[in-house]
Amino acid sequence: MRASRYFIPTLKEAPSEAEAISHIYLVRAGFIRQLAAGLYEYLPLGIRVLKKIENIIRKHMDEAGALEVLLPILTPAELWQETGRWEVYGKELFRVEDRKGRMFALGPTHEETITDLVRKNIRSYKDLPKNFYQIQTKFRDEARPRYGLIRGREFLMKDAYSFDISEEMAIKSYEIMKETYKKIFDELNLDYLMVEADTGAIGGKFSHEFVVKAANGEAHIVYCENCGYAANVEAAKYEFELDKLPPEEEKPLEKVHTPNVSSVEDVAKFLNTDIKKIVKTLIYILSDGTAVAIIIRGDRELNETKLINYFNVLDARLATSEELEKMGIVEGFVGPIGLDIPVYADISVKDLHNFVVGANEKDYHYINVNIPRDFKPTEFVDFSTAKENDPCPKCKSPLKETTGLEVGHIFLLGTKYSKAMKAYFVDKDGKEKPIIMGCYGIGVSRLMAAAVEQNNDENGIIWPDSIAPFKLHILALNTKDKQIVETAEKIYEKAKNIGIEVLYDDRDMSVGAKFKDADLIGIPHRIVVGKGVKKGIVEYQQRKNKNKKEIPIEEIDELLQ
Ligand code: ATP
Ligand code: MG
Ligand code: MG
Ligand code: MG
Repeated sequence: MRASRYFIPTLKEAPSEAEAISHIYLVRAGFIRQLAAGLYEYLPLGIRVLKKIENIIRKHMDEAGALEVLLPILTPAELWQETGRWEVYGKELFRVEDRKGRMFALGPTHEETITDLVRKNIRSYKDLPKNFYQIQTKFRDEARPRYGLIRGREFLMKDAYSFDISEEMAIKSYEIMKETYKKIFDELNLDYLMVEADTGAIGGKFSHEFVVKAANGEAHIVYCENCGYAANVEAAKYEFELDKLPPEEEKPLEKVHTPNVSSVEDVAKFLNTDIKKIVKTLIYILSDGTAVAIIIRGDRELNETKLINYFNVLDARLATSEELEKMGIVEGFVGPIGLDIPVYADISVKDLHNFVVGANEKDYHYINVNIPRDFKPTEFVDFSTAKENDPCPKCKSPLKETTGLEVGHIFLLGTKYSKAMKAYFVDKDGKEKPIIMGCYGIGVSRLMAAAVEQNNDENGIIWPDSIAPFKLHILALNTKDKQIVETAEKIYEKAKNIGIEVLYDDRDMSVGAKFKDADLIGIPHRIVVGKGVKKGIVEYQQRKNKNKKEIPIEEIDELLQ
């Protein structure tokens, strides 16, 4: 491909809203453009990378025996109503109405659609197992679309669904996908972790996320360097008994003056007590408008995803200052004592005696608070998340915490969808049974960003060979020099004939601009044709280390091999 006829609109400056390095470089290097929040256009370079990622995924899915299909993006509302997700999915679901007033969703995922296909077309145990997959555009009206391709509102996903006759077989299908995912992410050259993920109602060890380590990733994970345990912080089973405080006699409740303290750390210092004994209260408003108090230990992060999943609504949110004022709650100083709204306590406070809470009054706290003597939580829930230095659930060594990008997610669904939608098969014994399902997602477009997050330097992208838009970049440094142009053209033709994907910078531009663009775009191998041709020499470089190697022109065939 000749750069002069191609379309690579590189930019000196990143768009002001771009924070993530992948967002900055993919826009600057001319791979993508933003149309509106969370909507991106793939330019010629961008689509080449996307297709490569797609094809690596496709190859491994096919090898694993999965069958490619393509389902409609529009999904009838009735299917979502059958599983209850028309309500549960909340605002993330894009809903559209046709001219007759029938409602549809733009598919954010396709469990309902695929289950409908299967229930209509599969009857017998003889037709199973099956695994169907597609690579398709998905729609989610994300609350915070950001970081470019990392969190779009329209994005490319590979989604697969397995159907089995027994739990044992379903686990086998799950394990096959787990191994397939490893092959895919290995071939993509990514530094990733496979972590245990929250399984919600299903329980057990049958949900894993594949997380690529990245500085601004929104996935929080803990891992153990000693035994290899790794889990999403929401899923990590945090071991209460290990940091439980020594048992204590209940002491009488006391209200104490705590002037000029606000943070949990300040309160602990002022009262000369362990931070684990301080309890924070947060007031949340659920989607139906009810207020609830969530109490959690001061040293524990509250995980909003967990909370939101728990309440089974997608828009539980912290109460605003005005809402708190209306309820007579003093922001930052509230404790559960005396509140007449439901109090959901994290289970990490269940065994906590003589703890400290706010007195719902500036500069006052209650000490020696005891459950249930002083207040009775409506419910105990596991809201807490694991964090750095928590004991590893397997080997007790201190855990490490890191952030990353969730690029894949596999989940053993069981019979949740097949029961709700009556997807039954007739077994050997002639009995009707619900099909056991699994689902398996990969963020194809997010992977493009993830690859850039892990492969870049101060000058631009460094594509791994497996997904680079082109393998070879030929730079003709001075297009006014006949000998340079002739040599570059010759190498270009040779490379093309061998079948190397090559981008040939034949543009009439300054040497500096050509190198800047080449570094930004990040094609892994480079042949620079410059003044050296007078001595019969061109230069070969790799984008990743930039070591220059002089190559006699007659040896170019060997180099291209
Ligand atoms: P996240 O936690 O990042 O919101 P998710 O858990 O909601 O992702 P899944 O429903 O598991 O996502 O979807 C499968 C895969 O699709 C994810 O692992 C991720 O790689 C990708 N994905 C999800 N949401 C987006 C998005 N908004 N933009 C790009 N890729 C996404
Ligand atoms: Mg999500
Ligand atoms: Mg997730
Ligand atoms: Mg997920």
